[in-house]
Amino acid sequence: MAYNKPVPRKGQHHEPFWEGAKQGKLMVPRCNDCGRVHWYPRLICPYCHSTNLDWTQASGEGTLYTYAVQHRAFGGWGEEAPYVTAYVDLLEGDRMMTVLRGVDPSRPQDIQIGCKVRVEFEKVDDETFLPFWRVVED
Ligand SMILES: [Zn+2]
Repeated sequence: MAYNKPVPRKGQHHEPFWEGAKQGKLMVPRCNDCGRVHWYPRLICPYCHSTNLDWTQASGEGTLYTYAVQHRAFGGWGEEAPYVTAYVDLLEGDRMMTVLRGVDPSRPQDIQIGCKVRVEFEKVDDETFLPFWRVVED
């Protein structure tokens, strides 16, 4: 079945992200001046406003910062509801919004803030893979 959910537009300045995703690597922008990683990709560092940025491969590990159960949605996501959206703190710093896998949306009380999560990639087509995060055991 064809992928039927919204896909972010690919901009020229985040090409390394898309190329990494094809290989199962989470690529994130890092500032060469202050050393911090940021998410989402931007042309300037949100911390020090430098434009001296590079890409680095993140570990793909993080912890759950917060989450919410989505009971209603449109299009392809509507077919998957209920599902859990979350913010994940990347091991390298900053925070990524995601759909959280490996949890039961009907049992939100079982989802633990601070639990370990790992990135995985879902195929949209041969050129496009999207990151999602899954709860993993310690
Ligand atoms: Zn910076």
